[in-house]
Amino acid sequence: MKIGILALQGAFAEHAKVLDQLGVESVEIRNLDDFQKHQSDLSGLILPGGESTTMGKLLREQDMLIPIREAILSGLPVFGTCAGLILLSKEIISQDESHLGTMDMVVERNAYGRQLGSFYTEAECKGVGQIPMTFIRGPIISSVGVDVEILATVDNQIVAAQEKNMLVTSFHPELTDDVRLHQYFINMCKEKS
Ligand code: GLN
Repeated sequence: MKIGILALQGAFAEHAKVLDQLGVESVEIRNLDDFQKHQSDLSGLILPGGESTTMGKLLREQDMLIPIREAILSGLPVFGTCAGLILLSKEIISQDESHLGTMDMVVERNAYGRQLGSFYTEAECKGVGQIPMTFIRGPIISSVGVDVEILATVDNQIVAAQEKNMLVTSFHPELTDDVRLHQYFINMCKEKS
């Protein structure tokens, strides 16, 4: 099994380390060539945290937005953390444009209720257990469509969700040493392949 990690910007190296710990091979996707070269043997794709506007711009500039969107719509399992979640969202409050726009939810950037900066907490995540959660200027998922399953909430806000082949968190599971959420994603990838 091989997992692609979008490596345009942000916290991609940390995801590679977690996959390494789980004994799962990963490959950095830096441009369209990388994506096309590996697409047929990718079991899943991780979209890391970072800056969604920058990543969206780079995805467009490198003509990767449409091929990645189509792969996701065709069932490629994808795991978006923080900015990666924003990339997947169908609607972003106060922005005219979404990016990949494949997941039926509305998000608000830089809007996490407890504080606008960073914080750490622990909460129950459905199918995974009690897990540590590191928030860094994370988005709020304001609403989700009927096919989206809510996996975790903190302060009554949705912080993890899944719609079919798409898993998202508004926190950074790759910045803690708990690998269970990545294991959950690997299991999703196994089911789909
Ligand atoms: N604030 C960032 C954005 O809006 C997301 C933060 C993160 O990925 N840690 O894209």
